[in-house]
Amino acid sequence: MQVRNPRTGEYDYHLTVDRLEDIREKAIRLRAAQKQWNEAGLDHRISVISDWADRLEQNKESVINQLSIDTGRNKISKIEYEGTLGMIRGRCHTVKSMLPPHEPRPSFIDPNVHITQQYIPYPVVGVISPWNFPMLLALIDAIPALLAGSSVLLKASEVTPRFLDPIEQSIVVHSGLSDVIQIIRGGAEAGREVIEQSDAVCFTGSVATGQKIAAHCAQRFIPAFLELGGKDPAIVLEDADIEITSEAILRSAAGATGQACQSLERVYADEKIVEHLTQTLLEKISTLKYNFHQGGALGPLIYDKQASIIQSHIDDALSKGAIIHSGGKVENMNGGLWIMPTVITQVTHDMKVMTEETFGPIIPIMTYSDEKEAIRLANDSIFGLSASVFSQNIERAHHLAKQIDAGGISINDASLTNKIFDVEKNAFKYSGINGSRMGRDGFLRFFRKKALMNQTGRPDSILMQSEE
Ligand code: NAD
Repeated sequence: MQVRNPRTGEYDYHLTVDRLEDIREKAIRLRAAQKQWNEAGLDHRISVISDWADRLEQNKESVINQLSIDTGRNKISKIEYEGTLGMIRGRCHTVKSMLPPHEPRPSFIDPNVHITQQYIPYPVVGVISPWNFPMLLALIDAIPALLAGSSVLLKASEVTPRFLDPIEQSIVVHSGLSDVIQIIRGGAEAGREVIEQSDAVCFTGSVATGQKIAAHCAQRFIPAFLELGGKDPAIVLEDADIEITSEAILRSAAGATGQACQSLERVYADEKIVEHLTQTLLEKISTLKYNFHQGGALGPLIYDKQASIIQSHIDDALSKGAIIHSGGKVENMNGGLWIMPTVITQVTHDMKVMTEETFGPIIPIMTYSDEKEAIRLANDSIFGLSASVFSQNIERAHHLAKQIDAGGISINDASLTNKIFDVEKNAFKYSGINGSRMGRDGFLRFFRKKALMNQTGRPDSILMQSEE
């Protein structure tokens, strides 16, 4: 596969795709090694994974360098790398406190029966990840799965695969890890084979692919943990601090050029403050630069197909009467595709920009007249990933936050789920399904639970069933 460079538009990297028989072979090796990995115990796994984190530190420059080419952004690649290292070390540090109790206990129903629970990790966990944060999203599920005692078949996105080379180099042979994690390169076909070879699948990506993966996993009768797209709303109440609110909305909606699942993609502002909010946002946007300039915060659009979707959403809104106040055009500069944060008003729920995932730095703003309407509009979506509420009255903000159908609600900030990993959350509606990737559940979901029930009294007799 030829891979496009987002800065230059050139296809300058060749991805050697794993053949289906390679994937099967790797899965066989994982399955053979997993038993010993599990039996070696949690302390051993923590030590091997911590050593790997040390080696990743030694490869820091090359990982960040490749991530930067994959995504066209230097500073964010450094932050992504550091965040991933923090996640690995954090998981190693906290995992023991997440272990379930192992001591036998008497059953509440029959105290003579003593129960022991056994936690059995899935032997092979398939991880399939997207292109927007290639390193973090490849490892965020893989690490807790490995700690649980599973082995991992990891297929990262074919759009941003360069970072895999230094990652693979850091998985030193005989380190203990090389037997239990295998990297797969390729696209949808490779992804399908990963599902064929796995006992559970963690998928991060679009709703459309998520639906295919759910169906495939259902056929195989294996669990699918799906983390999918969003159309996150922000509700801005009339008492919100507009300076703080606009700062948070802009960072969330346009940070990483809007290429994040938990980016704000819809703003509902009280009609009394909408003008002030819009103007403050526009002032802040006017100071932003593309990242090929010194101090520029906005990288190129990584995936050319997504750039076309972004433009089509803007054009659809324009054709239906919306007004563009900034940005509005995907620009081709030296082969790269770029777009400035685009504030749009006069939008309605008949427009794609308010209903479909745009995945770009677009800030459509709609007004509401009362809180009931704000909640109705925020919940009028097929998505339910995350959301924001801005108000200086915390009680009121909580009251609203509790009514929004989404898994993570930031109050007086936005997209907090991209840094707060220690709390469980479930996506609502089409944004995902099954156990939380965060917190304790993000570890415990890799186990099947077995009950060992020890009868210490006398077993029931068949005569108990005799008719009166
Ligand atoms: P995508 O669905 O196009 O692809 C994701 C991965 O699935 C890739 O590795 C791809 O090769 C693989 N794939 C494609 N078809 C497959 C199939 N039939 N079987 C198995 N694997 C298959 O998503 P994308 O464009 O790479 O990523 C962007 C999407 O990811 C956005 O919708 C975004 O919201 C979502 N996302 C969600 C989260 C979250 O945590 N909820 C985080 C980041 C991104």
